[in-house]
Amino acid sequence: MLPAKSLAWGQSKSCIRELAAYGSARKTEIGAENVFDFSIGNPSVPAPACVDKALRELLSGDSLAVHSYTAAVGLPGLRRAVAEDLRARCGVPFEPEMVYVTCGAAAGLASCARALMQPGEEAIAFAPFFPEYRVFVEGAGGVLVTVPPTEALLPDLDALEQALSEKTALVIVNTPNNPSGVILTADCLRRLGQILSDAQQRFGHPIYLLSDEPYRELVYDGQAVPCVADFYDNSVICYSFSKSLSLPGERIGYLAVGPRMEDRQAVFSAIAGAARASGYVNAPSLMQRVIERCIGATSDVSVYRRNRDLLLEGLTACGFTCVPPDGAFYLFMRAPESDAKAFSERAKKHELLLVPSDDFGLGGYVRIAYCVSEDTIRRSLPAFRALAEEYGLC
Ligand code: PLP
Repeated sequence: MLPAKSLAWGQSKSCIRELAAYGSARKTEIGAENVFDFSIGNPSVPAPACVDKALRELLSGDSLAVHSYTAAVGLPGLRRAVAEDLRARCGVPFEPEMVYVTCGAAAGLASCARALMQPGEEAIAFAPFFPEYRVFVEGAGGVLVTVPPTEALLPDLDALEQALSEKTALVIVNTPNNPSGVILTADCLRRLGQILSDAQQRFGHPIYLLSDEPYRELVYDGQAVPCVADFYDNSVICYSFSKSLSLPGERIGYLAVGPRMEDRQAVFSAIAGAARASGYVNAPSLMQRVIERCIGATSDVSVYRRNRDLLLEGLTACGFTCVPPDGAFYLFMRAPESDAKAFSERAKKHELLLVPSDDFGLGGYVRIAYCVSEDTIRRSLPAFRALAEEYGLC
């Protein structure tokens, strides 16, 4: 008999997937140019030139070597490059031996959940959060506990203190955030670190902080993303090249265990074991070699910044209320009625595909993925205006 949990995941609904499927069908019906599809976080900026260059060089070389198995944990040169890059970015002395190369952030998150939690233990996530956290945590036999945000959509740390329990094994943060674009400030991380340190003492066991950072370089107006390992020793960074290098289909990222974590060797082994048990060994060999040559490069972020500005200005002028995003490529907009799903349905009538926020653990908003062409944004603004008029916003 199939396990009940697997059946439940198979049948569970995802607004994002449903909207994307609706969008594909609608584009066939009325033409892609007539549908304003803001549903999916697929990068709209090409990978930087160094990626193509590296691919060409690699593919004109020794085919057997390029496509061979690598060490399960990743190529030594790439692990070294990642540790150096992290060191240069945040001044924390990350070690190559503590870098595990993964098949994207999804594999990293799922492996961490399996490695760092016992069945029945709890992981805490702050709303709004990436919906897959629930699946990864439940897949590890754990329970996802959610904490609401403050008005500014930062983690509500007073609520975190209430949510922590003897069963807490893991706390997950995401900065910059999908779906809100909010960056966790140094002040927020400092207090979070203090709260977790106190809780570890109180409960007498480690609580690991997993920082999911696939949008780390997609930041605007001179912002930077503070490094969690600077504020809390029991930190693990989960990274992906899906967004920063526009390579989501290539499935490549890494986990980096904090250099000040006392039991880091055991934690790294547990991560490697969990990844192995899930079949996530040996991230794509060709991509590992590409990334080794391109570490530190980023797609052209100015394109996303222009899109953000255009959309933010246009929507505000229509009377909508938005959270100005500091990073990632999502705009979180307040739904002008309490039911975000109903608002998203109404937006569809204007061919606007906006994801209701309920899947992210918070009601009352929609997520607008602005990783689309500038032309799509410009042409969508009259549709947004017509929608705003229906609600008497302008
Ligand atoms: N974490 C967040 C916050 C994301 O938005 C995504 C993808 O959209 C992922 C993780 C998964 O990234 P990857 O494509 O590397 O598996």
